[in-house]
Amino acid sequence: MGRYLPRELRIKLYNDVVALRRSGLTYRGIIKELWRRYGVRISKSYISYWIRGVHSPYDGRRIPSLELLKPSEELAYVIGVKVGDGYAYRRRRTIKGYNYVMIGLKAKDREFVEEFGRCLAKVLDRRPIRPRYVKSSGRYVVEVRSQTLYELLRKPVDLERLKKYIEHCERCVAAFLRGFADSEGSVDKNGNITIYNTDLRLPTYVKELLRRFNIESTGPILNKRRGTVINDPRMGKQYTHNKDVYVIYIRARSNTNFYRHIGFTIRRKQRRLEE
Ligand SMILES: [Zn+2]
Repeated sequence: MGRYLPRELRIKLYNDVVALRRSGLTYRGIIKELWRRYGVRISKSYISYWIRGVHSPYDGRRIPSLELLKPSEELAYVIGVKVGDGYAYRRRRTIKGYNYVMIGLKAKDREFVEEFGRCLAKVLDRRPIRPRYVKSSGRYVVEVRSQTLYELLRKPVDLERLKKYIEHCERCVAAFLRGFADSEGSVDKNGNITIYNTDLRLPTYVKELLRRFNIESTGPILNKRRGTVINDPRMGKQYTHNKDVYVIYIRARSNTNFYRHIGFTIRRKQRRLEE
């Protein structure tokens, strides 16, 4: 069957298969139910592909399921960015009656969003994803649909599950830290590096990872970053938050090691560090 059915119908079938499987139906049960609903008979192998995430009618390309997702520097970078600034959300499309999930990043620095798009494409084995410029907000955006990455990266962050990708090897650790620093780090005029996050576990973990590269830091210390504007894609609006923010400060004597082993993708941050 598959490619000869209209795409809309394939998407409906796909979503039903995933939902029915989740509710505990066997393959045979799913086949029967789809026949009842749509008068279409789907092969067992197709259902298996869909459930394992090998194929999806959304893009007709291979999407790795969580089990098939391999550790890589690109994945580690995506994780680092995502647990910082990036977002993952589920959007309900009431018209068509199915949900889809997005992974994305919206930021001012083009090279940052480009790098995120490059890494996403590599991880998902698809064509490069070009950032889109949103004039009204002066930001670049990269967005991609991926159930698999959504499962992995949705909040609350499941650190235990992420560790095997982050700590795969030294290069993966460095890529994760770079992603996190790109999204949650800043460098002031004197070259002091600060890393923020609202989830205490993250700066604590980051501090521990930095130590592996001989990068010493102080904190985490509670620090309010008042008046931070947050984008909430689910609500489609912005709001100001007064959440507690935890901060770690890289010791000045560790700046060279930070520059050498981690660094920033964002040029204005990296330049300040060089100075
Ligand atoms: Zn690795």
